[in-house]
Amino acid sequence: MPPHNVRSLVVVGGGINGLAALFHALRLGAKGPLLVDRFQLGHDRASSHGPSRIARSMYPHAGYVRLMRATFAEEWPRLERAAGEPLLFRSPGLFYGPAAGPIAAYAKGVREAGAEVDVLDVATARTLFPMLRFEEDELVLHDRTAALIAAARTLRALERSTRASGAEFQLGTRVLAIDPSRDPIRIETDRGELLAERVILTAGPWARALVPELATRLLAIRQNLAYFELEGARDEFRVGRFPVFARIGLDENDFYYGLPEFDHPGVKLAQHVTRGRTDDPDSSPGTYDEDAIEDLRAFAIRAFVRPVRGLAGADTCMYTCTPTEDFVLAPHPANRRFVIGSGCSGHGFKFGPMLGRILAELALFGDSKLPEYRALQTEFSLAGRSA
Ligand SMILES: Cc1cc2nc3c(=O)[nH]c(=O)nc-3n(C[C@H](O)[C@H](O)[C@H](O)COP(=O)(O)OP(=O)(O)OC[C@H]3O[C@@H](n4cnc5c(N)ncnc54)[C@H](O)[C@@H]3O)c2cc1C
Repeated sequence: MPPHNVRSLVVVGGGINGLAALFHALRLGAKGPLLVDRFQLGHDRASSHGPSRIARSMYPHAGYVRLMRATFAEEWPRLERAAGEPLLFRSPGLFYGPAAGPIAAYAKGVREAGAEVDVLDVATARTLFPMLRFEEDELVLHDRTAALIAAARTLRALERSTRASGAEFQLGTRVLAIDPSRDPIRIETDRGELLAERVILTAGPWARALVPELATRLLAIRQNLAYFELEGARDEFRVGRFPVFARIGLDENDFYYGLPEFDHPGVKLAQHVTRGRTDDPDSSPGTYDEDAIEDLRAFAIRAFVRPVRGLAGADTCMYTCTPTEDFVLAPHPANRRFVIGSGCSGHGFKFGPMLGRILAELALFGDSKLPEYRALQTEFSLAGRSA
């Protein structure tokens, strides 16, 4: 047992990855771990808030397809058992776009990994998914593994489970610096010093401020999202009938995705913006960009067969992007007991229950034996793979 003033484990950041890491650390035997967050859990200033997220196997990199297969098979069922409620809601998944564009790489990735994905011709797509418009030159991929994630319910379930298993929380506490060269590791906060044998850092868009080695590699980008009510019976837009989808265009950032109505009125719509600007996560919280919302309305009018009835809500949320959109999931070079999880680049929630497991294994045991993680270690390293 560490001396009384030294924590066995401190997790910095209570988004999906920090809470999942805490969940697994407790499962793997950690005693009295502490989670620190500068805000309250479920707050809307970072990347994990809001009612829903997409889970898919659809990736250009076969390694991510395989990692998601393991996540679907092992970690979401484990979390649902602990939560005592469903958190994944199966839904048709459609990923489509000009066949000459990036969608072709997604088709190659899922084929290489043998994922349950069908290629649909446009006529069949129009018959099976009459709510969406498809162009003649488009490649349409039907992901039969896809699901809607009950995101807010997942965060609440993780908090309930970890509190019940003995975790402690210090919320409203901002970490100012982490010194991995000290043993125990020294964590300076705006409420005093913490000492820890092991630290897991999952600080989302603020990670680059706490790990200088990542300052140039991580971009914080604010996303705008909207909920639109469409003409028609509400039942048409519920999960299971209305697909989770993404239209992947030719140009950078020409990537729009949507989800059925779930725990919030309206079909959710957003653009996946991973390049070309950086935002200060501390500035103008919750202020969405009117032009971006109008751009989403224009996309809704182009993409949906049903007319848009009105805007049912809008919000912002932060991405933490790496140049290759690979995650950062690795120990700090100065101390293997200081483990970093960040750079989720707008696609980390679906992997959260697995990334949390890997982070906990790295922190507690110095390594993770998960073959799907081993296969992506270069991609997940602090330096990452070259863009
Ligand atoms: C609009 C949008 C749509 C998305 N859609 C999908 C999707 O469909 N599917 C999918 O898989 N993923 C999706 N994602 C991505 C996914 O939500 C993120 O990858 C994931 O939430 C990242 O979680 P995190 O725990 O790493 O970071 P965060 O949720 O950002 O958590 C970081 C936490 O650290 C705390 N913190 C930071 N700095 C400090 C400090 N100095 N001291 C104390 N605490 C600190 C913050 O308060 C915060 O709570 C989407 C993201 C956005 C923004």
